[in-house]
Amino acid sequence: MKTFHIITIGCQMNKSDSERIASYLENLGFILAEERPKADLVIITTCGVRASAENRIFGLIPRIRQENPAVKIVLTGCLSKREDIKRRVGNTVDAWMPIGEFSILDSMISGQYPISNIQYSGELRSGEYLNVTPKYSSKHSAYIPIGNGCDNYCTYCVVPYARGREVYRSADDILKEVKGLVEKGYKEINLIAQNVNSYRYDENTRKNANDLSREHADKVDFVDLLKMVNDIPGNFWVRFSSSHPKDMSDELIKILPQLTKVCEHIHLPAQAGDDDVLRVMNRNYTIEYYKALIKKIRQAVPGAAITTDIIVGFPGETREQFANTLKLFKEVKFDMAYIAQYSPRPGTAAEKFDDNVTKEEKKKREEELTAVLRKTAFENNRKYLGKTVDILVEGKNRRGKWFGRTRTDKNVEVKSDKLETGNGEFIRVKITEVRDFGMKGEVI
Ligand code: SF4
Repeated sequence: MKTFHIITIGCQMNKSDSERIASYLENLGFILAEERPKADLVIITTCGVRASAENRIFGLIPRIRQENPAVKIVLTGCLSKREDIKRRVGNTVDAWMPIGEFSILDSMISGQYPISNIQYSGELRSGEYLNVTPKYSSKHSAYIPIGNGCDNYCTYCVVPYARGREVYRSADDILKEVKGLVEKGYKEINLIAQNVNSYRYDENTRKNANDLSREHADKVDFVDLLKMVNDIPGNFWVRFSSSHPKDMSDELIKILPQLTKVCEHIHLPAQAGDDDVLRVMNRNYTIEYYKALIKKIRQAVPGAAITTDIIVGFPGETREQFANTLKLFKEVKFDMAYIAQYSPRPGTAAEKFDDNVTKEEKKKREEELTAVLRKTAFENNRKYLGKTVDILVEGKNRRGKWFGRTRTDKNVEVKSDKLETGNGEFIRVKITEVRDFGMKGEVI
């Protein structure tokens, strides 16, 4: 009997992929080893979105070998098809598994080592692998990928190369998975894809976005899917991420107030606050368009939390252009932003651009934006003081206190050591204290 351990680096899609790998391995007879040194097989689900995430594997691989020299190491995720990484890592790993190419794992039980020579099709089979039932890592909140890949080719981004073109899952399969989870008592359903808004699927022809001609392209879209998920009976919340601003339709915004299970939180990556930078990034919208979208969302869903992703120090970004991003932050008053310093990603169009903003300047820009974010997030949170909100309890934090999240994705620490309910339950709290990125509340 063989044991396995999975290390996940990166985004929600990677976490979801790891959950599928875990269940696939269990079906092959492997057993999960909670402690890494006790595993015969270690899978690393890698991330290539930033240099810092990529670099983690170079220290990790020798450490895993040192812990257990006989261990088999398989690398999957965004770096699994990168030739430069393969050359650098050499034969210190036993196999490279492109995303979704689970057939490599079949060979593990037949003992075909070294498995680096095992043949695989080389084609992503997303539709199939997304239907592998995951070993969910949470008992109350689940990530449900509705698709995989991206057709947008933002100039800085590796995802279209790492995950391939957009492929979507059948709505029937997604609904079946959600219904099954709700029946088991799951309280939070997170619909995820690189670009949820471009979801389209034709149930009659079982064809996904890549295969659909224009006349078929509206068979089931994201608005239809969201309505169907919302209509599933049960007491649960629905979240979705990520949304590309260019594909967020008026129809979706208009329907949001009617979808009572869909949480009042929209993650809308702006990436930059300057039109010229956005053009070079190939984002296909302007800041005026982005701000108009936010206005429409706030009109439709008053009090909705808005979060974003931003890259600072993109090649050629001047101080003046960065000042436009600062202006955007002051105007939109984001609740949270994931701010990244630009790093060139191999194989992308931007890799060839002159990375001419110094490290120090990138750091400075990140700090300046964070300072504005702290203020706006605090201002937004102040509106919660004295209010009563529902939270979904997620567990205990490092201080040993219960905490949960509001529908607007605000982190709330509960001022009580004892809860009658517990992890994965909805409770009502009165907010008594607010900070920039968190709140405290008392159970009602
Ligand atoms: S939309 Fe752009 S940033 Fe997002 S995954 Fe696709 S290429 Fe990357």
